[in-house]
Amino acid sequence: MTEGLPQQGMAWEALEDEMRAMAGDDADWRRGRTALYVFNAGEAVRDVGRNAYAMFMAENGLAPKAFPSLARMEREVVGFGLQLLHAPEGAMGNVSSGGSESILLAMLACREWWRGQGRDTTDAEVVAPVSAHPAFDKAARLLNMRVRRVPLGTDFRADVEAMTAAVDERTVMLVGSAPCFPYGVIDPIEELAAVARTRGLWLHVDACVGGYFAPFAAMNGVSVPAFDFSVPGVTSISADLHKYGYAPKGASTILYRSEDLHAGQVFDAEVWPCGRMTTPTVAGTRPGGAIAAAWAVMRFLGVEGYRRAAEDVCAARAVVEAGVEAIGFRVFGAPVLGLVTFGHPKRDVPTIADRMRQRDWVSARVADPDGIHLMLSPVHRALVRDYLADLEVETMSAPPATGQTAGGFYA
Ligand SMILES: *Cc1c(COP(=O)(O)O)cnc(C)c1O
Repeated sequence: MTEGLPQQGMAWEALEDEMRAMAGDDADWRRGRTALYVFNAGEAVRDVGRNAYAMFMAENGLAPKAFPSLARMEREVVGFGLQLLHAPEGAMGNVSSGGSESILLAMLACREWWRGQGRDTTDAEVVAPVSAHPAFDKAARLLNMRVRRVPLGTDFRADVEAMTAAVDERTVMLVGSAPCFPYGVIDPIEELAAVARTRGLWLHVDACVGGYFAPFAAMNGVSVPAFDFSVPGVTSISADLHKYGYAPKGASTILYRSEDLHAGQVFDAEVWPCGRMTTPTVAGTRPGGAIAAAWAVMRFLGVEGYRRAAEDVCAARAVVEAGVEAIGFRVFGAPVLGLVTFGHPKRDVPTIADRMRQRDWVSARVADPDGIHLMLSPVHRALVRDYLADLEVETMSAPPATGQTAGGFYA
């Protein structure tokens, strides 16, 4: 059993020392060797996020009348997202706590929208590629829905034909990712949207990890396949601010093509002695700091700042791709954003990944096939050559591939 709360309080200085010591075994992301969990655009961006968070740390986003500042910041952040993702007039959205909540809200809104059309949504089904985030399954559990996962094409993208074949009378939603987390590739959203339109289905695009990156990469001249509201048939989009938006954690956006489609996620009840309660997201109390910090980081960077960050990340990814191929790896699919996954036909990838971890390089792995997964940040541009040098040493000395898979995060 852990100890209870100490009787006596403690001075901040001592607490700070204790907390620094506790963090001693954490992934040392400040050195830039972490290509997972942390999006690192440098100290200046972090300072803005920290200061803005602290400024609004006590304020509550639950109460737009008491804190009109937060309501305005949320509206503006959502507006930035809608504009970047080419939403039409009348589109709507909210800031949520993260990608998982954004996905849950989209599935709830979808289910309620169907209910509103008089449809029985018992066991309503979402058809998704196997590369879709587990947040869809978590939401399905909470909403009494189901997810049917469909194998990918050989290019690691959603297989539209197979997904179409998986649609049945229970299907309410199709999912595509832009990009998917495991391989960093963008699913064929235009083709999925065509299916959604002919079948009358809701198409959710999970742009959690790409929504605040892809638009800027496209502005830089990267050929990014259409994935946003410019594609007719895209109904809702999740895009995380706390990923390539470089905002402190606890901030995502969930965006809908129209107010009608958004309506189902809003909770509105008059059931207790305090009168009516209306909340647009899952939370009651909402952290003012997370909303304010996202707003401040976005304004601090602006389009130009995000474009520079995207350029650094894409440049780092290009160096990684060329470098790993030079030592015999194969890049899975054709990633164009900040994620890249690669495997080796001859060497045991799990061993290489373990040894890279011993050298303090923190990244994810995938299974099927075995691969090393990097989620790159702007700070990595200066470090990828060190990474590749270490990777070459560990690859050359690694045992032959066994064919056994061992995916998963380093928890
Ligand atoms: C990160 C991520 C999510 C989940 O977001 P959280 O903020 O971790 O809840 C969903 N989908 C994709 C593609 C992601 O990369």
